[in-house]
Amino acid sequence: MFLAQEIIRKKRNGQALSKEEIQFFVDGITNNNVSEGQIAAFGMAVYFNDMNMDERVAITTAMRDSGMVLNWDSMNFDGPVVDKHSTGGVGDVISLMLGPMAAACGGYVPMISGRGLGHTGGTLDKFDAIPGYQTEPDSDLFRKVVKEAGVAIIGQTGDLVPADKRFYSIRDNTATVESISLITASILSKKLACGLDALAMDVKVGSGAFMPTYEASEELARSITAVANGAGTKTTALLTDMNQVLASCAGNAVEVREAVDFLTGKYRNPRLYEVTMGLCQEMLMLGGIAANETEARNKLNTVLDNGRAAELFGKMVSGLGGPTDFVEAYDKYLPEASIVRPVFADKTGFAHSMDTRELGLAVVTLGGGRRKPGDALDYSVGLTNVCALGDEINTDKPLAVVHAQSEAAFEEAAAAVKGAIQLSDTQPEKQVEIYKAIRAEDL
Ligand code: URA
Repeated sequence: MFLAQEIIRKKRNGQALSKEEIQFFVDGITNNNVSEGQIAAFGMAVYFNDMNMDERVAITTAMRDSGMVLNWDSMNFDGPVVDKHSTGGVGDVISLMLGPMAAACGGYVPMISGRGLGHTGGTLDKFDAIPGYQTEPDSDLFRKVVKEAGVAIIGQTGDLVPADKRFYSIRDNTATVESISLITASILSKKLACGLDALAMDVKVGSGAFMPTYEASEELARSITAVANGAGTKTTALLTDMNQVLASCAGNAVEVREAVDFLTGKYRNPRLYEVTMGLCQEMLMLGGIAANETEARNKLNTVLDNGRAAELFGKMVSGLGGPTDFVEAYDKYLPEASIVRPVFADKTGFAHSMDTRELGLAVVTLGGGRRKPGDALDYSVGLTNVCALGDEINTDKPLAVVHAQSEAAFEEAAAAVKGAIQLSDTQPEKQVEIYKAIRAEDL
């Protein structure tokens, strides 16, 4: 038998906790046997004194097991259960293509995703832009769609990882979100509760990233790779660039449009293509579907080019209650803003740097994200035709096109776009898309 205050004291004094002590504390978070004050003190003790990798594995697995853990054994899948998670970005529409692409190659993707947070968009909000699509189906429907389409992207259910729900809301109010140990446990407990064989983790770097510096992003990527593999789920993290909007657009309906166009081959933004392929390749290799990057890339290009990935996206959408002809006729279903107008720069030059966070906040201000939890969204608004770093900006080439519902909202977003994108006289060097992969064997 342990005492919560003794566990907090031990961590406060900088000592490592045993697996049993961590299990006791996490059980207390779940069943309310430790108080809010004790959880806050524990979070602060970890923030200052950190956890070693064994402690991180122990807290992650204890949190993972605090509620229901999905198990796919009875489904008799003929391929691995694989998934991807991102630390969040602007114009990060990867999940919408990557899920069906991995499924078309033989994986099964039960993706539980989140809503927008701060300046970043949320995959679930994008799916809510599709009329009829149920982001909170019951468990039977979720399992049926994963089996039949190979992919289902839905929202968090109440039964998964209750310990994180309580712990995160206290961390959020007590300045302890920014602990690599606790971020690792929070992210991974939720992903590993989905019963995955393999996970690709996208850790963003740059002006629109959650982590403040390249070094912090790398530290998180290393922690996640070590802990997930230590907890028995094959995992690779990629450090990817978020110094500019990833897709050509940012918003909800506009990103769904770009995702479908990507899958059907109508338009593939080259940066979005590289990061999507990089993460999907890792999923196929970790899941044993491909032996190496070349084989994985070839398989992925095949399912993009033969339409199989687009077909499975359509199957997922209709399976979860959306229109049966969504891929062919999305314009019939997705809302359009009343004002769709380009924003030109005041001078000519090359797009040199982007405050991606500010652009994400511009989408929030337009009504595409939440100012406070529970706010209703306007799915039609956002930015499209966002320039890429290195593009020549002139009187024909705008910085972006703003989709707004009023003149005042347009003006505010246009000013934000102009303020967020800096021009230079000379063309900057091309920005890399993927900085590095951190695999179990690299640790
Ligand atoms: N996202 C999470 O889910 N948890 C954290 O702790 C931070 C970001």
